[in-house]
Amino acid sequence: MSVWIGSMQKHIEGFKELTTYNDIVNIAAPKEIYIPLINGVSTAFEVLVKEGDRVFVNTKVAVRNDRFEVPLFSPVSGVVKGIKKIMHASLKPVDHIVIENDELYESTISIPHLDLEKATKDEVIEFAKVAGIVGMGGAGFPTYFKYLTPATLKVVLINGVECEPYITSDYRMMENYTQDLITGFIAMMKMANAQEVHIAIKKSKKKLIKYIQEAIKPYPFASIKEVDDVYPMGWERTLVYAIYKKRYVKIPCEVNVIVNNATTAIALGQAITKQMGPTMKMVTVSGNGIKNPANVFVPVGTPASHIIAQLGGYTDENITLVAGGPMMGKTMTTDAWVITPYTNAITITKTEQVDSMTCLRCGTCNDHCPAGLLPVRINNAEQAKNVDLIAQLNADLCIECGLCTYVCPSKLEVTEGVRRAKRVLALKKGA
Ligand code: SF4
Ligand code: SF4
Repeated sequence: MSVWIGSMQKHIEGFKELTTYNDIVNIAAPKEIYIPLINGVSTAFEVLVKEGDRVFVNTKVAVRNDRFEVPLFSPVSGVVKGIKKIMHASLKPVDHIVIENDELYESTISIPHLDLEKATKDEVIEFAKVAGIVGMGGAGFPTYFKYLTPATLKVVLINGVECEPYITSDYRMMENYTQDLITGFIAMMKMANAQEVHIAIKKSKKKLIKYIQEAIKPYPFASIKEVDDVYPMGWERTLVYAIYKKRYVKIPCEVNVIVNNATTAIALGQAITKQMGPTMKMVTVSGNGIKNPANVFVPVGTPASHIIAQLGGYTDENITLVAGGPMMGKTMTTDAWVITPYTNAITITKTEQVDSMTCLRCGTCNDHCPAGLLPVRINNAEQAKNVDLIAQLNADLCIECGLCTYVCPSKLEVTEGVRRAKRVLALKKGA
C-alpha cells in the first residue's frame, strides 16, 4: 500500500526563538553515567565489560547483537559499577551499564582510521557500522544498514528540516560543525555511489541557508533544497515528495534517494576525523517549564534530571516533561532517564488544564493526517476493541506525528488513541 502524502501539512507555532540564538551550554558529566542497552526497540546486547573494569572515553562497552550490529562507547573514564534497570525514554525499564566517572577523561581509540579518499564503498559502510553511527534525529536506526540496499542510489538527501516545535539542535549542529557535515555527506555519497547530495533546509532559516551555501561552494555536487515551513516536512515521505515529487511504498531507495538526518552526517564526519563514536549529543531543552532553555552539549548516559538542574530547574511544580519534541516525543512521569545518541530534545511545559469535549465528527483530524489515515475512525475502532477494523484502517502506518491531536477542535487525545490501536495490532501480530 502506498502511504498518501500531499497537502496534509500544517504550519505550526515553532517557539524556536527560545533556543536558536542562546549560547550552547556544555554540561559536564555527572558522577555516574548510565549507558542504556537499547537501540530502537531492541534490547539484544552483548555487554563487553564487567563490574570493576576500568574504562576510558571511547571504550566499547557493549554491542547490539541481533540482526544489527551497533556498538556503544563510554563517554567518560572510570570504573564499571554493574548493570541497573532504570526507566528509559521509550517508556520502559531497560538495563543500563553504570560507570562511575573518575573525571580524568583518559581516552582510548576503539574505531579504526578511515582514509575517506582511498576507501571503497564497502569499507565506508563497514566503518559506519563499527563507529556505531545510528539515525541521530530520533529513530536510532543503524546507518550502515540503510546503505546495504541493492537499489541504485543517485542522491543523498540530508534532512536538516527539523520541523518539530521547540527543537533547534540540528540547526545548531549544522552551524557549528559544518566541516564535519561536509565530511559526513561525502562519506555517505561514497556509501551510496551517489552523484549528488542535497541538503534540505526550511525556507524560513535564511541565515543557515546562506551560511551552508557559502560552506559548500567548493563542492559542486552539493546543493541546498529549500522547503516550506510546515509540519511534518521532516518526515521522509513528505520531504521526498516536496523535493522530487515522487512517492514510494516502503523506503526512499525505491526512488533512488537515501535520506539521512544532518546530525547523523555530522556524527559520521566526526567519527572519520576524530576516531570517536557518538558519545556526546546536542540536545534542545526548551519550553516554558524550564528556567533557562538552551541547547546543551552533553555526554550520552547523562540523566535528564542532571541537565534540568544545570539549567536552573523547573519554572513550576506542575510541568509536563517530554522526551523529544512536543509532537512526537514521549510524555515521561520521571526525569530519571538518560540521554541516548539519538535523543534530540527534552521539552518541558507548564501543565495546562485541558477541557476536552466530545467528538464533533468534523473530520479535521482525517483531513490533516499526513499518512492518509482516518484517526477518528481508528480511535472508534480501538474503543470498540475491533482489532480487524483497526487492521483494515492501517493503524500501523501511523507515524505518531501528533497532528491529529494538534488540530482537533474538541481537544481530544486522538494520537494517543491511534498509539493504543497500534499496540493492539502489534500484540495481535505477535500472538
Ligand atoms: S499521529 Fe498518526 S493518525 Fe495522527 S495525524 Fe499523525 S500519522 Fe495520522
Ligand atoms: S478532529 Fe477531533 S472532533 Fe474532529 S473528527 Fe477528529 S477527533 Fe472528532
